[in-house]
Amino acid sequence: MDMMEKTRSERLLQWLRDAHAMEAEATTMLTAQASRLDNYPQLRQRIEEHIRETKQQSQLLESCLERLGGSPSTAKNVIASGMAAMHAAGNSAMSDEVVKGMGISYAFEHVEISAYRSLILAAEAAGDTETARICRDEILPQEVAMAQWLYEHQDSVVQNFLQREQEPDVQAKR
Ligand code: MG
Ligand code: FE
Repeated sequence: MDMMEKTRSERLLQWLRDAHAMEAEATTMLTAQASRLDNYPQLRQRIEEHIRETKQQSQLLESCLERLGGSPSTAKNVIASGMAAMHAAGNSAMSDEVVKGMGISYAFEHVEISAYRSLILAAEAAGDTETARICRDEILPQEVAMAQWLYEHQDSVVQNFLQREQEPDVQAKR
């Protein structure tokens, strides 16, 4: 293995571990969000669907890491989950929790999209066509679809929130 190949496979391994930690963060954050959404069933359902996708993504990344002889970084996952829990707790203190949560989720999906686009290039550069295929054809489309769903449903969620906020004895925030 020459110097360039070594660097490329190390970069790929690191980004796979980063993606794995990112999905751990996503799982923690989405689970906290979904569990608190009492009055927005459509949003809750879509988040629960994406939690299932996220767990599959995590397993796919583990399979890529194993194939390359690497392993997920446990310490990083613990830190990522801790940060996600703090995010979720911070949101829950807000009177417009559902709206803030949607914004953070929308941003997070775009962080994921960016990460997988980079990962695809790193996998191709390292000659790992299977990792490139998994990221491009299986994982990335799920992140794009979730980002798009959030974009398309934001107006109805916010309208619903604003309406609920005007009604006495009706909970709007979550
Ligand atoms: Mg994901
Ligand atoms: Fe996602």
